Amino acid sequence: MKIKVLGCSAGIGDSRRTSCCLLDADILLDVGTGAGELSLEGLIGINHVFLTHAHLDHAGLLPLVADAAGRFRDRPVIVHALAETVAALRECMFNWRLWPDYAALPSLERPFLRYEAVEVGATLSLGGRKITPLPARHAVPAVGYWIDSGQASLALSGDTTLCEEFWDALSRIENLKYLLIETAFLNADAALAAVAGHMTADLLAAGLSRLRRPVEVYVTHLEPGWEDRIMAEIGAACAGFDVRRLRQGMEFEF
Ligand SMILES: [Zn+2]
Ligand SMILES: [Zn+2]
Repeated sequence: MKIKVLGCSAGIGDSRRTSCCLLDADILLDVGTGAGELSLEGLIGINHVFLTHAHLDHAGLLPLVADAAGRFRDRPVIVHALAETVAALRECMFNWRLWPDYAALPSLERPFLRYEAVEVGATLSLGGRKITPLPARHAVPAVGYWIDSGQASLALSGDTTLCEEFWDALSRIENLKYLLIETAFLNADAALAAVAGHMTADLLAAGLSRLRRPVEVYVTHLEPGWEDRIMAEIGAACAGFDVRRLRQGMEFEF
């Protein structure tokens, strides 16, 4: 199993792309602006999309991905997300005003998209690749994902502030190898992080202290322009842990 990072910033500007990872050649984990890095052939090959939540930096390119690929495909792209996230997409995005309803076009029998609701803890197996939603705590309903190849596991947080249930779930993953965790804000913005549902360096240190197994940690979703300062705070707060900055183009094989 291979995961390639197509986007891992909280925003855009210069070469920054927002959250999107490619799992093997057929699954996208979030569809932020990183999805625009795929070739047309790559877009056509996407069969499944797993969304952490509905925010545009994670789901904003879904209409364009479906549009580029739809007429070349003979089956819908399946969008896996919380029921609340699906409702937000239907009401606010694919509502015929912002974008046509691709669950009904070009025909109800063969639409571009089909939705499947996920639940925290309920594992989906796609060709031996196990994908399980993890708890998260964000400004809107959100999940992380645990991806298990059978050999090893990678977990990604999506957007979340400190969520004890997330870290406790990680502690139960026996073959956990990689953790992609967001840290959007500086410690000075702790109050904003609590309201907006994001992590700071201090919250990351608290989470890592709760995690009872070794793991390679990669920090994602840094706010544009503040990356170096946030990483410096993480270096100070998380001394003793194996924490690096996630970079666009990185690949994880497991
Ligand atoms: Zn968000
Ligand atoms: Zn985000």
